[in-house]
Amino acid sequence: MREALADVMRLLYQRGLIQIKGGNASVLSGGLVLITPSQLPKHSLKAEDIAVLDLSGRILEGRPSSEYKLHLEIYKRVPRAKAVVHAHPPHLLALVERGMRGEVDMLMEAKLKVKCVNLVPPYPPGSLELAVAAAEGLSSGCNAVVLARHGAVTIGEDPYDALDAMEALEDAAKIALLAGPPGFEPGTFGSAGRRSDPG
Ligand SMILES: [Zn+2]
Repeated sequence: MREALADVMRLLYQRGLIQIKGGNASVLSGGLVLITPSQLPKHSLKAEDIAVLDLSGRILEGRPSSEYKLHLEIYKRVPRAKAVVHAHPPHLLALVERGMRGEVDMLMEAKLKVKCVNLVPPYPPGSLELAVAAAEGLSSGCNAVVLARHGAVTIGEDPYDALDAMEALEDAAKIALLAGPPGFEPGTFGSAGRRSDPG
């Protein structure tokens, strides 16, 4: 599982879903939380870099991600979560900033990988408020939440399952942005542009 976490972080980075020191992932294994470390570059993590916590937050090994509370709250409140991935998917965040959340939900129904998505208001990264709000957003049956102006969290049976949901979300958002808002007709931008031309 340590190798899987390191691999998932490398894939997230290669996919442009996190910055070199951003994002984090964890698995629940034997009642303990294996979690990616703080600060280290995420494209070159090794199994021995993975930190270990118990569910009360006691550090047993390594230096856990600064978002460890997010992972702990999810495991405590969402029993079906066996792995958690947190990333910063740019198209998904752009879509939500544009107020196109309904579009995400609609696309999600076509994606069996993401059952539903809840939106979490902005809270400081690493805070308990963020952790609790994200866990509550996942406790209703959704396997994904968008953290407004920050990123997204997905859960799954294992780290690849959670990564799969994260990739599906970002792809759906990218398609929605490229396709334009519902009712958009090709040429609208061009004719509006011509009308606004001076003279
Ligand atoms: Zn983050």
